[in-house]
Amino acid sequence: MTEITAPKSPVTTAEFADEIREQLKYSQGVTVEQATAADVYVAAAKAVRNHLADAWFTTQADTVNGSTKAVGYLSAEFLMGKQLENALLNAGLTEQFDEAVKSLGFEPKAIVDAEYEPALGNGGLGRLAACFIDSLASLGVPAFGYGIQYRYGIFKQTFDKDGKQVETPDYWLNNEEPWGHIDYNRDQKVSFGGEVVEENGKKVWKPAWSVRAVPVDYLVPGYKSQRVNTLRLWTAKSYDEFDLLAFNKSEYMEAVEPKVKAENISKILYPEDSTKVGKELRLEQQYFFVSASLHDAIRVFYPGQDKPDLTTFPNKITFQLNDTHPVIGIPELMRILIDEYGYDWDTAWGITQKTFNYTCHTLLPEALEVWPASLIGELLPRHLEIIEKINDQFEAELAAKGVDADTAKDMAIYTGDAVRMAYLATYGGSHVNGVAALHSQLLKDITLKNFSDAYPDKFTNVTNGVTPRRFVKLANPRLSDLITEGLGTDKWLSDLEMLEGLVPLAQDDEFVKKFAAVKAANKHAFVGFAKDHYGLDIDENTMFNTMVKRLHEYKRQSLKILAVISKYAAIKNGTVSADDILPRTVFFGAKAAPGYYLAKMTIQLINNVSKVVNNDPDVKGKLAVHMLPNYNIEMAQNLIPATELDEQISQAGKEASGTGNMKFALNGALTVGTLDGANVEIRERVGADNFFLFGMTVEEVEKQYADGYDPAKYYEADPRLKQAIDLVADGTFSNGDRDTYAPLVSDWLTKDWFMTLADFSSYADIQAEIEKLYRDPLEWNRKALLNVANSGFFSSDRSIEDYLERIWHTGPLA
Ligand code: PLP
Repeated sequence: MTEITAPKSPVTTAEFADEIREQLKYSQGVTVEQATAADVYVAAAKAVRNHLADAWFTTQADTVNGSTKAVGYLSAEFLMGKQLENALLNAGLTEQFDEAVKSLGFEPKAIVDAEYEPALGNGGLGRLAACFIDSLASLGVPAFGYGIQYRYGIFKQTFDKDGKQVETPDYWLNNEEPWGHIDYNRDQKVSFGGEVVEENGKKVWKPAWSVRAVPVDYLVPGYKSQRVNTLRLWTAKSYDEFDLLAFNKSEYMEAVEPKVKAENISKILYPEDSTKVGKELRLEQQYFFVSASLHDAIRVFYPGQDKPDLTTFPNKITFQLNDTHPVIGIPELMRILIDEYGYDWDTAWGITQKTFNYTCHTLLPEALEVWPASLIGELLPRHLEIIEKINDQFEAELAAKGVDADTAKDMAIYTGDAVRMAYLATYGGSHVNGVAALHSQLLKDITLKNFSDAYPDKFTNVTNGVTPRRFVKLANPRLSDLITEGLGTDKWLSDLEMLEGLVPLAQDDEFVKKFAAVKAANKHAFVGFAKDHYGLDIDENTMFNTMVKRLHEYKRQSLKILAVISKYAAIKNGTVSADDILPRTVFFGAKAAPGYYLAKMTIQLINNVSKVVNNDPDVKGKLAVHMLPNYNIEMAQNLIPATELDEQISQAGKEASGTGNMKFALNGALTVGTLDGANVEIRERVGADNFFLFGMTVEEVEKQYADGYDPAKYYEADPRLKQAIDLVADGTFSNGDRDTYAPLVSDWLTKDWFMTLADFSSYADIQAEIEKLYRDPLEWNRKALLNVANSGFFSSDRSIEDYLERIWHTGPLA
């Protein structure tokens, strides 16, 4: 760990209040009396930004002038969450803010809540990127996050009267957004299409059209580090805003066509999550932000130089490819070096390979991006040539290594028809990492086995992590205070392994009771949040049991809802006595990709189970189910601290890591989970006694696939499962209509690719163990506290330190 210096106390409360007043007056154009909470939010945000400016300039200067290699984190998604509270915390201004806004007649929480959450990510991958840039800044490591400022973030989710998901656009930029600074003077030109011609024996790309990439800079303040890094999100502008000729011919729509075409590039975040989408626009987006970012890095590190020595580029900055979305950067850097700066192929390849590293985020073969060669050829003809040549070189290298022809064919980066981006990334960079120990192992054993055999030294693991600043300190202030009380210091916020100091306190009943009181208070607070936001009446004297994440078959929300239905049936039928029923409130939150049919049907089912169960007087006070709309960071920050039992129930071998699982453990929920992703490491650390394990292992899953999996067998074997599926099939949750869920039922009984049915019995069985423990609050909370105490490893600060040591080989600024 680097030594963290205490923040300077930059401003008094009265001064900060004056700064907000000034912003209201000169920037918002309102008096304090006229100001709304939204006005004060914008004014406060600008005031905080001003406070960060000097540290930002110093960090930039030290980054460019010093000898510490920087990190470029290339990611199509950054799911940042609300900024104000986090910026205040990291800038050391929280107290001044609270007092200042009170002195202006406002409630601090109302101001913080007035911020509109930027939703520029789908889920785990985008949130990981946000945690990582927080940790990089907090550790004092010079870094740039590079991505896209989408005009519309992930869609907003509502439900219609039938319980179906409805997607509406997320107009997050409709009101003033005080954080991003648009910098028209640092733009980049990004070109597409056209053809490659030979001129004087050299290949020359003659593109057909170009867009202007304009950076929008977000400050990324480190926690108590005095460092402020940059998140640079590109927005697409047109060079030909307006076709006057067309306009004068009264062709009004045609007149704005170039603008629309260019600006479409940064218009929307694809609402995809681990599913394949072959959209031209998506490739345009990827190339757009990566090309702009690489040129930007050259501009930053070689200012004003026409002929920079780019052989030093990998010493200036190392680029991490967050999944395959930015992998087109590999041929792009080759093109820049060869075509724009005149390097020969081998020199360019040496620079490129040293510059990039690749993080793989999946084990699902369909989620590894593969682009049709024809599409790349059309949009990026020079890049396709370069990719072909990389592939030729790769084949020769494999042959020299003695790899047989069939294997080499399986490993082809370019197949003639398609380009496999994960393979390009693996070959074109220095390191490849998975995101949890099990995932990294499976990458080596299965997904990228041939590559791991040929290049064993490239492969490593970095287990994901989450920032304790946002996900403990801000999300769970009561627990933070208790941890600080228990440890006698708040230094754990920048050294999370210190939480281990709480282990002995788990034997102190008084401390455990305080911990239980924190959870109870968080539950109470969430009841208020749910009333305000969703109009729900929730009984806080029930177990809060949560499953929040994207809706995907492999994550198995189906398993949870079938178990809920089974429990409902048992209560209705009287197969459990009233005394044996442990009252539970089950929360779901999940968005489904709009084109993902079965996922959307699962949402509909959950909503309708909720309707039936919550309106049935026979189960009142015993079971309630809520599908909360629009799962996002705000909901996560409110629901995770209130949760007692967390569901991480994916099929073993399918979830790369998960980060939700870490957030729950850190906030004192117990997990019911499979041996999948980072669950494995969470269980190892918190202790097998403090984790509810069920379900098949990876090996057992593989054996089932090999033997020919038959889900119907499981349906017949467990009456609880049979009854639950029958209730879905017979119209109980669709007003008697037996067709509504027929595709889902048929999938369960005949295909069930992710083996929900095979794991049902062990999942249903372990509920008795869970409920037994819950009836003993002291023991439950003791175990939950041990989860907190042993989760320090899952700080994103630790992940970044692993990247620094294993992959990036750099460190904090001097
Ligand atoms: N979506 C949001 C809003 C999150 O905060 C998280 C958690 O880290 C995720 C998605 C990812 O959840 P999981 O790791 O359970 O897939």
